Amino acid sequence: MSNKHLRVIRSDEALQVAPVDTGGRWEDRGLCRQVDSEIFFPDKGESTRPAKSICARCEVQTECLEAAMRRNEPFGVWGGLSERERRAMRRKKAAA
Ligand code: SF4
Repeated sequence: MSNKHLRVIRSDEALQVAPVDTGGRWEDRGLCRQVDSEIFFPDKGESTRPAKSICARCEVQTECLEAAMRRNEPFGVWGGLSERERRAMRRKKAAA
């Protein structure tokens, strides 16, 4: 079985995750806490779609994206955006 096939299976499993109200810090409420974090760090050329589909249903997406932007997070999908999309957002803000 190839890694790519494993990723598909993991992403299917990830689509079944649901929010869990743990209270407390927003970081603890992220849906990504319930899945393999590798999904959020795809290798070059691999799809970011599985991670983004989880982020799209995450109740702390806004907080997560803001924190990733503040940290200048260089890798991975955070708050539903890839590193390239966050760089583009940074450039757009800087130009404004
Ligand atoms: S938005 Fe952030 S906290 Fe939520 S699943 Fe995505 S990476 Fe995790």
